[in-house]
Amino acid sequence: MNFSDEYIINIKSLKNAEYKYLYKINKSFFSDFVYENINDVNLDVCLTLIKNNDLFDLTFNIEGTILTVCDRCNDDLLMPINFTHHLFIQLSDNPKEEGTDIIFIPSNTTEIDVSPLIFEAVIFSIPMRHVHEYDEKGNSLCNEETLKILSSYLKEENNITFSLKCEELKKLLN
Ligand SMILES: [Zn+2]
Repeated sequence: MNFSDEYIINIKSLKNAEYKYLYKINKSFFSDFVYENINDVNLDVCLTLIKNNDLFDLTFNIEGTILTVCDRCNDDLLMPINFTHHLFIQLSDNPKEEGTDIIFIPSNTTEIDVSPLIFEAVIFSIPMRHVHEYDEKGNSLCNEETLKILSSYLKEENNITFSLKCEELKKLLN
């Protein structure tokens, strides 16, 4: 089986068969698509494309790591990624309702650019929660120093809010 790493796929030249494409995704891929808090990317995206006349069945298997920032301690967070994303592309001039997993394109389309689809699949693969895991003993793997600074800062902020509220109360009582 032949592997290609071209983002532009000439769909007209494909036979009814299964095709594989392998893409190495790093940070430079992301600079074309601005995305916050992604500091580094090291992903293998394997696309399996099955052509069946006017219907294309696409499966993206994503594996690797993403370096982001922990939402709790703000330290670097290396997240392992292992994700599968699936969608259909249908050639059609009279598309019925657009579904979440089916894209309709005009029947005279000769090429598709899969890079936006890869980007979308990668975004779906990133967990919503960016927080360090816990070790076997149940201790958070967050940066303890930062957490200490953060918690003292939060206490201070609570005190300020509290004293402001006292001021307001005093004014009301007077
Ligand atoms: Zn953390």
